[in-house]
Amino acid sequence: MGRAARVAAAGDGGDMAEKDNGVAGAGVGTGTGAATGAELIDFRDARVRGGDHIVRGTAADGLVRAFAVTARDTVQTACDNHHASPLVTAALGRLMMGGLMMGAMSKDEDELITLVMSGDGPIGGLTVTANNKGQVKGYANHPNVWLDLKGDNHLDVGGGIGAGTLTVVRDLPGVEPYSSTVPLATGEVGDDLTYYFAVSDQIPTAVGVGVLVDVDLSVRQAGGFVVQLMPGYDDALIDQLSANLKGVESVTEMQERGMSPTDVLGYLLRGMGYEELDAMPAEFHCGCDKDRASRIVLALGRDELESMVEKGEPALVHCHFCGREYRFEPDELKALLDG
Ligand SMILES: [Zn+2]
Repeated sequence: MGRAARVAAAGDGGDMAEKDNGVAGAGVGTGTGAATGAELIDFRDARVRGGDHIVRGTAADGLVRAFAVTARDTVQTACDNHHASPLVTAALGRLMMGGLMMGAMSKDEDELITLVMSGDGPIGGLTVTANNKGQVKGYANHPNVWLDLKGDNHLDVGGGIGAGTLTVVRDLPGVEPYSSTVPLATGEVGDDLTYYFAVSDQIPTAVGVGVLVDVDLSVRQAGGFVVQLMPGYDDALIDQLSANLKGVESVTEMQERGMSPTDVLGYLLRGMGYEELDAMPAEFHCGCDKDRASRIVLALGRDELESMVEKGEPALVHCHFCGREYRFEPDELKALLDG
C-alpha cells in the first residue's frame, strides 16, 4: 500500500449529540431540481434528493470514483426494527451505509453484497445485505448494548465490535458466491472498510461513515462517502486527494451544516473536476414475506410439523433482518404439509 495508504485517513463520526447542545441542524438533502425562469423542474430528481439517497460521481478524468449517501430514515428504520441502542444504531448504520455504497458500485443488477463484521466485543457481530438499487437491510447480534461514551463524546463503536474480522460476500444468481475476509482495523467500520478495499481489492480508498444520535435517541444525521483511486492514478493525484481529505470533519458534521451528498463529494474532490453521474433513492428494504417464511417452516421437516399440528402449536418465524414475525397456525401448517 505504502503511499496509497495515506489516502485512507478520513473522519468517521459516530457522535452523540451533546445534552446542552440546542443548535438546530440545517436541512439535509435540499432538492436541487428547483429551477428559475423557463427551466424545467425535474420533480423526480428533486424527490430523490429530498430523502435518503446515494450519489455516484467521478473526478480527475475518471481516475477517481466517488459515492456518497445520506440515510437518516434508513438507519432510523433499522433502529426501530431492532429496538437498537444508540451504540448499535451507530455501528449498524455505519455498516449499512457502507453496504449501500458498495451495492451502488456493482454493475450487475442482480448482485447482492453482504457485509459481516464479527468481533469479540459485546455487540458480537453485524450483518448487512445491500443491492445496487439502493436497498439495504441489516441486524446486530446483540442490539441492546450500551457502553460509556469515549473521551471525545463519541459512541464507542470500536469497543462494541471488538477485535475480529470483516467478510464481504458477493452473490450473483447462478454463480458461486465470492467472499473475502480481512481482520478488523479498529472496529469503527469506516477504517475497516478502508482496510478491506486496500487489502482485498487493492484499491486505495477513503471511507467515512457516521451516525449522529440525538439526545432523544433518534437518528439525527447519517451519512457517508467512499472515494477511490482507479487504475492509472499517479503520485500527484494521491497527494492532491490526501491534501483535500486532510483535516476533513466528519460526515455528520458536514450534514449538520446542511451539506447534501453532492455537496460532500464536491467538497472532498474540490479542484479535481468533480462530476456527478447520478442519484438514486436509498431505503431499508427487507424483502421477506409469508411465502418465504413458509419455506423455512417446511425445512423443519414433516415429522416436526405433524407433531406441531397434533399438539395444536403454531410455528413462528422471526426475520433477523427486519424483526418481523410470521405466525403459522396449526391449520396453516397442515395446509403446508398437504401442499
Ligand atoms: Zn424481514
